[in-house]
Amino acid sequence: MKTTHRTVLVINSGSSSLKYQLVDPDSSASIASGLVERIGEPISALEHRYGEETVTREEPIADHTQALRMVLSICEEVGPNFADYNVVAAGHRVVQGGEHFDGPALIDDATRNLIEELSPLAPLHNPAHLKGIDVARELLPDVPHVAVFDTAFFQSLPAEACTYALDQEVAKKYAVRRYGAHGTSHQYVSSLVSETLGRVDLKQIVLHLGNGASASAVVDGQAVDTSMGLTPLEGLVMGTRCGDIDPAAVFHLYRVGGMSIDEIDTLFNKASGLKGLTGDNDMRVVRSLADNGNEDARLALDVVLHRLVKYVGSYTAVMGGIDVLTFTAGIGENDSDLRRELCERLQYLGVKLDLEKNAVRSKQPRVISTPDSKVLVMVVPTNEELAIARQALSLL
Ligand code: AMP
Repeated sequence: MKTTHRTVLVINSGSSSLKYQLVDPDSSASIASGLVERIGEPISALEHRYGEETVTREEPIADHTQALRMVLSICEEVGPNFADYNVVAAGHRVVQGGEHFDGPALIDDATRNLIEELSPLAPLHNPAHLKGIDVARELLPDVPHVAVFDTAFFQSLPAEACTYALDQEVAKKYAVRRYGAHGTSHQYVSSLVSETLGRVDLKQIVLHLGNGASASAVVDGQAVDTSMGLTPLEGLVMGTRCGDIDPAAVFHLYRVGGMSIDEIDTLFNKASGLKGLTGDNDMRVVRSLADNGNEDARLALDVVLHRLVKYVGSYTAVMGGIDVLTFTAGIGENDSDLRRELCERLQYLGVKLDLEKNAVRSKQPRVISTPDSKVLVMVVPTNEELAIARQALSLL
């Protein structure tokens, strides 16, 4: 397949991984995609997909430079040939843009250094993104590089929604406030809802339910609240993160449990949520355990649902009503049981789910509520790579 359009190489660099996709932002086509994993470990793995072909390699890949070199050489070998695809930009996913970025930014040395300065707010993410950014700028010097921030969509939050009730001298000194995350997805999904319905004047709640999970409240296209906070730990129950918890649990585990701050960090981020409650972070496993009578798994689902009911209720109150409730990401798009169970608990809002439409699996944005439901319920598949590609293009 050869495109006559422009394409964008989207790069999501993790501390030991490099995920990429060549996207045509105009047609929404994904031309090629791949993932290099376990960079720096004795055996690294690369998987590259182009058209019908999937190429896998297992060999040591020392660092991100070698990883991207390998990706570029595989593209030369099996395609796509970048020269044929008019690659006009590289779009880089960056988790934390702090207060500096309320939209995509061209990466020059100043932008790069700001992303580095923000690392204390996202120690697991920003330094890892910089590895990918530095290597890509070096190996692909002829295209502009654009950073697309997970936090940017939530820079519009009103002060009352993003301010923690802390001593403001301390809060300001250490930049402690709510930044949100998953913003690229919430923005993409809420604007696709508006586009699908032909209306911007909507009160929307978007539930991004994947391994990471977050909720947002969006009024007339602007985010007014979101569940993730200083970091992606706050809010909903997630695959391995606990979401909302009394901060005094940290003091208790430190003073009484004798745990170190790093141990508590790992506990809350990596060993809690579905994993902490059931031993497994995959919703499909948790669902099947619950279906087979496992009480821990049923409790986990109820904790997930209870938290969702609280967020939908509080965001409805914040917005003074709700027009559309949208589900997205791995669980939101695929788990019809969870959607049904949540909508049953939202009947007080006039939510009525069409059970047949809810059971349909599709990659298309769709309405799953009945015509007489007071709230439109939708499933809208997210596509963060496409959103990043489009945002990158918007700067050129
Ligand atoms: P994501 O982070 O958006 O890729 O979502 C990943 C999560 O989606 C996985 O942890 C699964 O628990 C969940 N998931 C994927 N497919 C299904 C499904 N058919 N039913 C329930 N959960 C699913």
